[in-house]
Amino acid sequence: MFESLSDRLDSAFHILKGRNKITEINIAESVKEIRRALVDADVSYKIAKQFTDTVKEKALGSDVLVSLKPGQLMTKIVRDEMASLMGGEAADFKIEGKPAVVLMSGLQGSGKTTFSAKLANYLKTKKTRKPLLVACDVYRPAAIDQLHVLGEQIGVDVFSNKESKDPVEISKAAIAHAKANGHNLVIIDTAGRLAIDEEMMREIKAVHTAVEPNETLFVVDSMTGQDAVNTAKAFNDVLDYDGVILTKLDGDTRGGAALTIKAVVDKPIKFVGTGEKMDALDVFHPSRMADRILG
Ligand code: GDP
Repeated sequence: MFESLSDRLDSAFHILKGRNKITEINIAESVKEIRRALVDADVSYKIAKQFTDTVKEKALGSDVLVSLKPGQLMTKIVRDEMASLMGGEAADFKIEGKPAVVLMSGLQGSGKTTFSAKLANYLKTKKTRKPLLVACDVYRPAAIDQLHVLGEQIGVDVFSNKESKDPVEISKAAIAHAKANGHNLVIIDTAGRLAIDEEMMREIKAVHTAVEPNETLFVVDSMTGQDAVNTAKAFNDVLDYDGVILTKLDGDTRGGAALTIKAVVDKPIKFVGTGEKMDALDVFHPSRMADRILG
């Protein structure tokens, strides 16, 4: 994960290693390298610049900290700034309700269906919920079948209705079914498209209005870099969602989406997907992620 970014940042810190004093010149050199590394990791130039301006300011203002060597000091400043860029403290998650409703949004292929099942599995085990998964992709019968397969695998009931082409109707019927059958958590997997499209937005907005979810989540493939950030913005404009799920962090992802989504949409990343298996999800902690990026 983020190998290239980690290596590049390490080289940027190396500029300061072995030096006893932090000077304006060697800070400027190191900061320039950090900025380049961030831009190459798909962080927008604007955010990379703001980030490194803050780092520079803090580095220049902190020569009183005699206990740290310049290289260590810069590493610490970058780590703290990265954690704050990604969101400060870990985000909470609202699953109280009778039933609580979680709505998934995102493009096709982002990992919505996989994450819906992972989340059901996680909340079933960790929070002793009784989830109901709802298949609302009215365009792709294969997506409905996929959710049934995953549900069976993790021992969670799946609600679907292949006869209906109306996701609002399916969602409402699913909530009624949950109430009647003692499910205290309903996770609705919706249809995505390959790219942003008005019809998709209208549809997800209609479901959102009809079911008033406790949590609306936006799922995004971390491998898609700046596109991930743009898509996050487009969905947030329509849904004002509660949090982001970043998938496929186990792949060859460069880090830009993880680092900048929070800054762009001002919504926390809540979970990350780290594989195709049902237990491959982690609660997102900005400071732990910063540690991982810095290696
Ligand atoms: P959806 O169209 O948004 O519902 O996406 P899917 O859940 O069908 O996921 C698309 C593909 O990505 C599938 O092949 C999943 O197995 C895979 N996938 C989903 N999440 C992850 C992840 O965190 N890591 C990896 N490596 N693959 C994932």
